[in-house]
Amino acid sequence: MSSRPFRYAIALGGNRRTRWGGPPATLHAAIQILTAAGLKIDRVSPIVATPAMGPAGRGFANAALCITTTLAPVDLLTLLKRTERAFGRRAGRRWGPRPLDLDILLWSEGVWPPGHARSAPGRLQIPHVGLASRRFVLDPLVRIAPDWPLPGTRRTIRQLHARAKG
Ligand code: ATP
Ligand code: CA
Ligand code: CA
Repeated sequence: MSSRPFRYAIALGGNRRTRWGGPPATLHAAIQILTAAGLKIDRVSPIVATPAMGPAGRGFANAALCITTTLAPVDLLTLLKRTERAFGRRAGRRWGPRPLDLDILLWSEGVWPPGHARSAPGRLQIPHVGLASRRFVLDPLVRIAPDWPLPGTRRTIRQLHARAKG
């Protein structure tokens, strides 16, 4: 197995109180726990308050990170899901209330699965499917990774952010 380090951009979101506090305090705690789990946190965005969308009910706190790790995408996703569970996340409705949501947005090697194969529903896909259209993802991400190109295009996060509606 390669030990070459990869860079990733990760989205954090939450709209429930946890034992760490409200959503912003929860995101700060999640960043500390991801650091303790061995991820090297290179950049942390400001935490952005986002009004609720869908059936979630309460406003979200959202943030983004740039990290470095030797973990491959599937192994990083496993770590992120384990961390979500440690914050009380239970399987449930998509877009529903959740203490912590951790999504992989981008990675240094381009797309996942490799070779632009179509990912099966529910399976890991990088770039994240919502990346280009979600302001609550792009607003924090543009603060830390404006020049990161969207794989397969000539567009940067800065350009996607400028085009995003809402
Ligand atoms: P959305 O994916 O639209 O942001 P969500 O974050 O609420 O919605 P989850 O319930 O957290 O959705 O995850 C649904 C599935 O998405 C999971 O099974 C996960 O494996 C899969 N998934 C696919 N691509 C990614 C990715 N890039 N990052 C995180 N999860 C992903
Ligand atoms: Ca999500
Ligand atoms: Ca998710």
